[in-house]
Amino acid sequence: MQFFKDSMLELIIQTSTNLPPDVRAAMGEALRTEAPKTQAGQALAIIGQNIDMAYEDEGAICQDTGMPTFEIKTPVGANQIVMKRQIQEAIAEATRRGKLRPNSVDSITGKNSGDNLGPGTPVLHFEQWEEPDVEVRLILKGGGCENMNIQYSVPCTLEHLGRADRDLEGVKKCLLHAVWQAQGKGCAPGALGACIGSDRAAGYHIAKLQLFRSLDDVNPDPRLSKLEQEIMDEANKIGVGTMGFGGKVSLIGCKVAAANRLPASFFVSVAYDCWAFRRLGVLLDAESGAIKQWLYRDPKRPVERLVSGAGFQVSGREIRLETPLSEEKVRALKVGDVVLINGPIVTGRDAAHTYLMHHDSPCDLHGAVLYHCGPVMMKEGTPPNTRWRANAAGPTTSIREEPYEADVIKRFGIRAVMGKGGMGKKTLDALEKHGAVYLHAIGGAAQFYARCLPKVDGVYLLEELGVPEAMGVFEAKDFPAIVTMDAHGNSLHADVAASTGAELAKVGAGEGRR
Ligand code: SF4
Repeated sequence: MQFFKDSMLELIIQTSTNLPPDVRAAMGEALRTEAPKTQAGQALAIIGQNIDMAYEDEGAICQDTGMPTFEIKTPVGANQIVMKRQIQEAIAEATRRGKLRPNSVDSITGKNSGDNLGPGTPVLHFEQWEEPDVEVRLILKGGGCENMNIQYSVPCTLEHLGRADRDLEGVKKCLLHAVWQAQGKGCAPGALGACIGSDRAAGYHIAKLQLFRSLDDVNPDPRLSKLEQEIMDEANKIGVGTMGFGGKVSLIGCKVAAANRLPASFFVSVAYDCWAFRRLGVLLDAESGAIKQWLYRDPKRPVERLVSGAGFQVSGREIRLETPLSEEKVRALKVGDVVLINGPIVTGRDAAHTYLMHHDSPCDLHGAVLYHCGPVMMKEGTPPNTRWRANAAGPTTSIREEPYEADVIKRFGIRAVMGKGGMGKKTLDALEKHGAVYLHAIGGAAQFYARCLPKVDGVYLLEELGVPEAMGVFEAKDFPAIVTMDAHGNSLHADVAASTGAELAKVGAGEGRR
């Protein structure tokens, strides 16, 4: 197995940087479906451009490179202990090269291991099979969409849909509800892997395994195939759209399995994956560990660009924001405005918010744009002339900061909070009271946004919080974002949640609710 580690490194790099053809095809269809001038259309243009950039520069498609999860099948006699060690080495090497963000955090101390290794990381599942080769499949599923996973214990009552019973109609309601509740927080359009039955733990595992199916395959069970097609048709009528901006494409795939259950339990487990649906696989020679074949790919088909023209285009109608921002400038903004940010912006996410609740800020936040982002950072040059560079810098899910944001805005005079998925009522009230806005960047567009942050002015709290939680001051250059919560009490997210809830109720009623 002299080539096994190299093969794993290549698998990790390709999975992180080059979306598989079935996902590209689904995203291409989404791009053709949404009108280009809508918010969903503009977001898709940035996503398409980002996917192309990631492939061309071999950069991480999204800065959240997710929980590496390997499903490995080995012939009898393969040494799984050596394979496990070499996969771990390949993970650490991919992290060193900036293809994976350091993403493994000690759950007791909060300390990042720095190399994506630690108890439970990466996730490795071995299984023996009767084939002569080794098969390794890898999925990199980020935290934003992982947080949108959901498990239903039916019968249950679902918002907008009423009672879900222990039958396929009840399952269908659960799956539609899963798409609706995710809104844009899991970087829609997304895909569902689902398991009907099993127990709580195995149900989630089987649901995640469905994400290893090709988006364009057909379920061999005609009952499940029909269910998958119905969910695809009906979920796309609800109107969540790209990033939850509203639109025609909310779901790019639905894959469902059924597993036996205990008589007393009936779980419907859902694994929600975002548009940055990174999974690939390889077939390896069991003797040498060399790659014999890539799974999900057609060797005769070259990678096609998703965006044929320039991608996201500045129309001239955008509002230019120079930071630091004044209250007057911010109060003039309204929901739906597209802004281009220039000047310093500050990154800070979960640990930084906790820190700011108890300490002074290490950098000036007066009039600042606080960007919820944990970038992939690389140090370049040789001491003493080293400098940081953002390798991937898309937004993270903002709602996690809901308990803190109102206080942080008030204490530090922040004028704009930027992230993805929107925030709640407490933050909306604080925006109105203190004169600030919520800006929505396009989730997962890590390569696109890294190019909008060409210079790092400073990195703070690195020792205390580690990458990616440290606070960074970046020079933004024409950084595009959409105002989705303004200083007048308006929230696009609340509006879309209400309108999609009404559509969900209609779709549910069409099923013949009991
Ligand atoms: S695209 Fe969005 S949900 Fe997916 S990994 Fe990236 S930030 Fe997370």
